[in-house]
Amino acid sequence: MTPAGPGALRLERLWEQRPLKRSYDVIIIGGGIHGLATAYYLAKEHGIRDVAVLERQYIGFGGSGRNTAIVRANQRTQENVRLYDEGLKLWPILTDELDYNLMFFNCGNLNLAHSEAAVNAFRLSVNTANFNHVESELLDAQSCKELIPILDVSDKPKYPIQAGMYHPPGGVLRHDAVVWGLAKGAAEHGVDIHQGVEVQGIDVQGAKVTGVRTNHGPIECAKLGVMAGGYGAEVCAMLDLELPVHPLTIQAMVTQPLKPFLHHVVSSGAYHVYANQTLKGEIATGAHMDPQVNYTTDATAHYFKHQAEALTDFMPALKGARFLRIWAGLADMTPDMAPILDGNVGFDGLYLDLGWGYFGFKSGPVAGKYMAEFIARETCPEILEPFALDRFLENRYMGETATTMKYGHWD
Ligand SMILES: Cc1cc2nc3c(=O)[nH]c(=O)nc-3n(C[C@H](O)[C@H](O)[C@H](O)COP(=O)(O)OP(=O)(O)OC[C@H]3O[C@@H](n4cnc5c(N)ncnc54)[C@H](O)[C@@H]3O)c2cc1C
Repeated sequence: MTPAGPGALRLERLWEQRPLKRSYDVIIIGGGIHGLATAYYLAKEHGIRDVAVLERQYIGFGGSGRNTAIVRANQRTQENVRLYDEGLKLWPILTDELDYNLMFFNCGNLNLAHSEAAVNAFRLSVNTANFNHVESELLDAQSCKELIPILDVSDKPKYPIQAGMYHPPGGVLRHDAVVWGLAKGAAEHGVDIHQGVEVQGIDVQGAKVTGVRTNHGPIECAKLGVMAGGYGAEVCAMLDLELPVHPLTIQAMVTQPLKPFLHHVVSSGAYHVYANQTLKGEIATGAHMDPQVNYTTDATAHYFKHQAEALTDFMPALKGARFLRIWAGLADMTPDMAPILDGNVGFDGLYLDLGWGYFGFKSGPVAGKYMAEFIARETCPEILEPFALDRFLENRYMGETATTMKYGHWD
C-alpha cells in the first residue's frame, strides 16, 4: 500500500495499464473469468504474451462478477464431470500460482431430491461421478438433516425431502477475487488488459479473422477468442454466425448477516433455489431464471417472493430473516446446458468459449487452460472435443438437463 495523502492509504493497482496497441497476436473479447483465464494460460503455459483482453465495461462486469460462486464437479454427463473435476482441483493450485487469496471454501454441496424421479436422477449422477472417481453420495432424508440441522425433513413442506446428493469436494469462492487474481496473473505474464474497449465489428479476409473494430479504432489480430458470456451470441452475430445460445436473466440476493448455522451449500431443483452462508454470515441465495430471452439485469419483486417462500418452506428457521441486497446477471443458455468450446466454426483464427449458462464460474479456469492450449496449438484438446458446435447439427445433445427439473441444477 502507498500513502495517497495525509492520513489516507491507497491500494496499489493489481495490474499495469499499458497503451492499447494496433495489433496483437491474440485478442480476447470479454474480461470475465473465461477471457482472463484463457489469456493467463496463453501467456503462462504457452509463452504467447502478445495478448489483449478487451472488455467494454470493467473486469468482472458480466456474470463473472455477479454469480454466487458455487463450484462442484458432480455434473450429469461423463464429459462434463471430467472437465469440472479438473476445474475444481485447480482452485487451490491457482491460489498459490496467482499469489492471491481466491477464498476457496471447500464446504461441500447438498442437493435435495423431493420425488422418486429426482432420486433416480441423482442415482445416475452419483454413479457417473463415482465412475469418474469424483466423491458424491446419495443420503436419505435423516442423513441430510444431520448434515444441515435446520432442514425440515417432515412431511410439512410442500415438497417433502426424500433424499440428497452430497458432494464433499464442492464449495464456494469469492468471485471478485477470482477475476482480479486472474487479471493480475495475466498482466504479470505480459497480457494487456483494456477496460472500456468495446468490440463493435470483426474484420475478416476470405474466411480468416484479421482484427476487430472498436470504439478506440481498429486493432489487428491473428487469432480472436470470443468469451463474452451472455453477449457472446451478439458478438458472433457480427460474423453472421448464428449460435443456439439464448441470454436469460438470473437473479441472486443476500439476507442480513446471521450467526453461522449453514455450513454447506444446499440446493433444490423442485423449489428452484440454492443457498449458502457467506463468511459475513449472509445467506446468499439464487436460482430463479427469467423464462424469456432478454438482456436486462433488473431484479423483480416476483423473485423476492419466490425465494423467500421457497427457502422458508424447507428451512423454516429462516422466517423473519431480511433480504438486504439483490442483483441480476445474464446466463448464456444452450439447449443442452453444456457450453460451446470450438475453434473450427468456419473462420480461421476464431475460437469460441461461451454458452455456459449456470455453470461458467466453476468451469472458468479449466476452460481457460484448455482453450489456451487450443489457440496455441491449433488443435482441439481431447477433453474439449465433445463441446464442439456441430453437436447441435448432428443431434448429439449432451444431456446435462435432468428431465425431472425445469433447468437442471442451478448452482
Ligand atoms: C446470478 C448468477 C449466479 C450464478 N451463479 C453461478 C454459480 O454459482 N456457479 C457457476 O459456476 N456459475 C454461476 N453463474 C454463471 C456464471 O457467472 C457465468 O457462466 C460466467 O461468469 C461466465 O463467464 P464469462 O467469462 O464467460 O462471461 P462474463 O463474465 O459475462 O464476461 C463477459 C464479458 O464480455 C464483455 N463483453 C461483452 N460484449 C463485449 C464487446 N462487444 N466488447 C468487449 N467486451 C464485451 C462483457 O462486458 C463481460 O464483462 C451465475 C450467473 C449469475 C448471473
